[in-house]
Amino acid sequence: MAQFAVIGLGRFGSAASLELMRMGHSVLGIDNDPKIVDKYADHLSRAVIADVTDSAAVQELGLDNYDVVLIAIGDDVQASLVSVVHLKAVGVTKIWVKAISHAQHLILHKLGVNRIIHPEEEMGVRVAQMLSYPMVNDYISLGNGEFVVEITASERLDEISLGEVLHQDNKTVEVLLIKRKTQILVRPTDDFILQAKDILVIFGPLQALRNIAPKLI
Ligand code: ADP
Repeated sequence: MAQFAVIGLGRFGSAASLELMRMGHSVLGIDNDPKIVDKYADHLSRAVIADVTDSAAVQELGLDNYDVVLIAIGDDVQASLVSVVHLKAVGVTKIWVKAISHAQHLILHKLGVNRIIHPEEEMGVRVAQMLSYPMVNDYISLGNGEFVVEITASERLDEISLGEVLHQDNKTVEVLLIKRKTQILVRPTDDFILQAKDILVIFGPLQALRNIAPKLI
């Protein structure tokens, strides 16, 4: 279990905080709006009212003990940047920041922020990729054009062996596991008999995955 602090409990910060809680982590939520803090007080490990542009307030928060501090202040770029300076001053080393502009990105980069997030752009790219491959439920990009994708097997594949579906001259993709209801079946072999609605988690280069995907739907 890791300890996270999230500054700014707007839509982005609150969604990140609640998901971290669901994943079993400890989350300190911080916002300068008492109504917002009140709203999340019962759902987070701790929620406090503080204005992070105030260096004394930041010092009191003891944020250097946290694994990562996520700054999720939206439109107030100045407040977001000042809070980074205050966090650095109290010794916080892992800082992630939601950014809204190129100028803000440049300054955050100069300040040595570990991770700069552009939610709209990142989500836009993700949605475009999902739209082009509607059969793919979800994916992880591993870099170098290699991906892990999750595809649900269609009714057509019921009672058909994995080898028959994937049979190909060169083995460029690998089925890492199959999810069947609550079961996880690891590294299925070619004689594995599929059932409709099995969820296949497959690794491989993009082009090979593109060729395979239509065979599964
Ligand atoms: P989103 O687009 O994620 O909803 P918002 O800009 O609406 O982003 O939310 C940002 C949150 O950050 C708000 O709840 C706001 O009260 C909080 N916030 C803004 N400035 C500060 C600050 N100086 N200190 C602490 N919290 C702040």
